[in-house]
Amino acid sequence: KRDAHVAKRTPLETKAPLKALGGVIDLDHGDPTMYERYWREMGDKTTVLIPGWKFISYFSDVRSLCWFLEPEFANAIIRLHKLVGNAVTEGRYIVVGTGSTQLFQAVLYAISPPDASEPISVVSAAPFYSSYPLITDFLKSGLYKWAGDARKFKKDKPYIELVTSPNNPDGVTREAVVNQNQGILIHDLAYYWPQYTPISSPADHDIMLFTVSKSTGHAGMRLGWALVRDQEIAKKMTEFIVLSTIGVSKESQIRAAKILQVVADSHEHRGNFKEGEAFFEHSYNLMAKRWKQLRDAVEKNDLFTLPDFSRGTCNFSQRAFASQPAFAWLKCREVEDCESFLRYHKIITRSGRHFGESANYATLHLASPSPSPSPS
Ligand code: PMP
Repeated sequence: KRDAHVAKRTPLETKAPLKALGGVIDLDHGDPTMYERYWREMGDKTTVLIPGWKFISYFSDVRSLCWFLEPEFANAIIRLHKLVGNAVTEGRYIVVGTGSTQLFQAVLYAISPPDASEPISVVSAAPFYSSYPLITDFLKSGLYKWAGDARKFKKDKPYIELVTSPNNPDGVTREAVVNQNQGILIHDLAYYWPQYTPISSPADHDIMLFTVSKSTGHAGMRLGWALVRDQEIAKKMTEFIVLSTIGVSKESQIRAAKILQVVADSHEHRGNFKEGEAFFEHSYNLMAKRWKQLRDAVEKNDLFTLPDFSRGTCNFSQRAFASQPAFAWLKCREVEDCESFLRYHKIITRSGRHFGESANYATLHLASPSPSPSPS
């Protein structure tokens, strides 16, 4: 009975009643509240004042392919990618979306063949981000349909493969796995930032998705951006966003521009910031601390295993380190249903089954709880 309940649960279901119970640790949600304290400490550096006469128009820049993209936001995106070295922006169109969630849907619309006799298959190697199947099949589109684990895809037909790198939920650096040339790839690079993984080279793919939710922690701004090589694909993505929401909030874009500028300033103009306030250094240290605490806890008994990541040198920080993802893909050694086992011990996680894997695994989010106040 309980299993049926778990299978029906959506990732966004609220857990408020459980949270209200004393002693429960809720690690089920990827809500990046870990970042709140940093931004609080930045004080007025990121405050944006928007007078009432601003943003009356639907338009931001009529000369731009994505005409609702605020130039200030576009410039901040390019500056940050150049600083971090995690993605090529030259020769790319930028399309802004209400979170990378909207961009994902816009890409599916843009790259699916419009007149095919059947919907194109959408695949991703398991374990995959649990929202992909739900978002893909939500509207029962005639253009595309979820076809599961990319490693099991054997049809000799066109397909769309989602490559999430580092991957949610297991943190692995990934490449496409379907060994055919009829595929169109979408690279979801939400976590390709130096607090999570060494930046080895600028990503140079045809369609790359990024989001402020995972880079700076501002999930509530609902902003993502796509770097797209092909003009027609960028145009169709823009069309999708126009038809669904006639653009993207300009207030959010202006605020995001400011946040991205402060992130870049914290590295490029360190003199204006206190020691340890460079954004990616601070967030790297937070993630490192959380992973150390988690690994220490896991090592204390024989019940669980965690993925091991090999060390790599980060071209941005010049530091050699092993990935420290925003979530942990925990395996229960002896218990079959890891989520239930942890739940019994008042730790709320999400079963591996939501990610196309076995219930032996559970995901816990490390960026969601706010850090406890430091003694001062
Ligand atoms: N892609 C991945 C891999 C994610 O983990 C998430 C958030 N959990 C998203 C996309 C969605 O991000 P956004 O908040 O920008 O819609």
